[in-house]
Amino acid sequence: MYENGYSQKGKWKEECGVYGIYSEMEDVSSMTYLGLYALQHRGQESAGIALTDGAWMDVTRGMGLVNEVFRHQLPHMENQRIAVGHVRYSTTGSSLLANTQPLLVNYAGGRIAMAHNGNLTNAAEIRHSLEQEGTIFQTSIDSEVIVNLIARSRKETVEERIMDSLLKVKGCYCLTIMTEDKLIGARDPQGFRPLCIGKTEEGSWVISSETCGLDVVGAAFVRDVEPGELVVIDKDGLHSRFFAKGEKRAGCIFEYIYFARPDSVIDGQSVHEARFEMGRILARESGFQGDVVMSVPDSGTTAATGFAYESGIPFAEGLIKNRYIGRTFIQPTQKKRDTAVRLKLNPVRSLVDGKSVIMVDDSIVRGTTSGKIVKMLRNAGAKAVHMCVSSPPIGFPCYYGIDTSIRKELIAATKSVEEIREYIGADSLHFLSLEGLKQCVPKLNADDMCYACFNSAYPIADGEKPAGDSKYVFERGKC
Ligand code: AMP
Repeated sequence: MYENGYSQKGKWKEECGVYGIYSEMEDVSSMTYLGLYALQHRGQESAGIALTDGAWMDVTRGMGLVNEVFRHQLPHMENQRIAVGHVRYSTTGSSLLANTQPLLVNYAGGRIAMAHNGNLTNAAEIRHSLEQEGTIFQTSIDSEVIVNLIARSRKETVEERIMDSLLKVKGCYCLTIMTEDKLIGARDPQGFRPLCIGKTEEGSWVISSETCGLDVVGAAFVRDVEPGELVVIDKDGLHSRFFAKGEKRAGCIFEYIYFARPDSVIDGQSVHEARFEMGRILARESGFQGDVVMSVPDSGTTAATGFAYESGIPFAEGLIKNRYIGRTFIQPTQKKRDTAVRLKLNPVRSLVDGKSVIMVDDSIVRGTTSGKIVKMLRNAGAKAVHMCVSSPPIGFPCYYGIDTSIRKELIAATKSVEEIREYIGADSLHFLSLEGLKQCVPKLNADDMCYACFNSAYPIADGEKPAGDSKYVFERGKC
């Protein structure tokens, strides 16, 4: 079986990335390809691009990285005007070709293609009632519920149909949708996941999960899509409507800790600055002393540099990551798992030998990575290993777009900090406090964020137990 070392079942995964372009003159297919390339960190299982020339609509999708899916050829249409794209990591439904996005459907009002990032908490309920009425589903992903609701809506215009449908679903979603003549973006009423709008000098409009997807095509940031907002881009420009307003915001704090790229800015808050601040506060809170600060690359690096800056202890690139392990990397047998980690990460012995090492990582989920890293550093001669984590202990599952709903797999659900320290074999262990974390996003109202994976304060009233406990909820016999 082919498997990426970082995508074993039960391990947290990134969610998806969505993209869309409306352009009168630029090559929307190539631009979407570049945009998806920039969003690749949000999902590496599959990728797809849907195109329209104003009359016809087509989609090309496949399993793998963006450059694998479009290795031979980019989708193309004469007079292509609009594109939507998607990169996926499965949070509902297996990693199968049938579950790739964008979804493209024909309905009485025309055609639509849709890309979804997030997780709906009431999709099973809705799907069940639609199935009872005879609706046929072709995938096992929650996103298909939305296109079915749009197709069945009695409202007149496509915008109204979409808004009507979004009022029925609960949970977390950022969408890019295209019709033959419109590009539409929507963000759920609580704004869990990021979505922003940009514009190129040539006048093309771009909608992207993150600002790094605007930068790559030379689009200037215009603004974020607001929670509960539907933005519609057509030949007359951008129009905005709200299908929900005034709900308490609940932006995902984990976007700043791990998911998003550090060069992105989400809702006015730079991801890099937030991560750097996490490192500074970690240094103050832990008071750890050592000879050198190191990180688990790449996600721990920005926080590690913040730790080094605050503590005055030098940062060194003591773990080297092999960047060429693609998703087709073959996971060896259980016996050879240590080899797998060594293939991915290897210490620089001269930086580690005889040193007291402060090692910074962004999170501990099951404790596997930290345990292996501590062992690796000790084998390389470390005198002591002090583990610093730039997030609080993750004790509760996320139902809003992260692939783990199995609480018993989360090490912090069953072990105290001291027990975790013992389990991973570190000399000391410190997790960033929740209060400290809240100080790291000064551009945001810290109370408008979702911290449910740390404190179980689920922002959606019935969110703690969405219908169905598993990502395989729509795959009979698999739950
Ligand atoms: P674990 O080994 O299970 O404790 O997972 C912690 C490691 O996984 C850390 O090195 C994180 O950088 C990384 N990580 C955190 N969230 C995710 C995610 N969503 N997908 C893949 N890796 C992650």
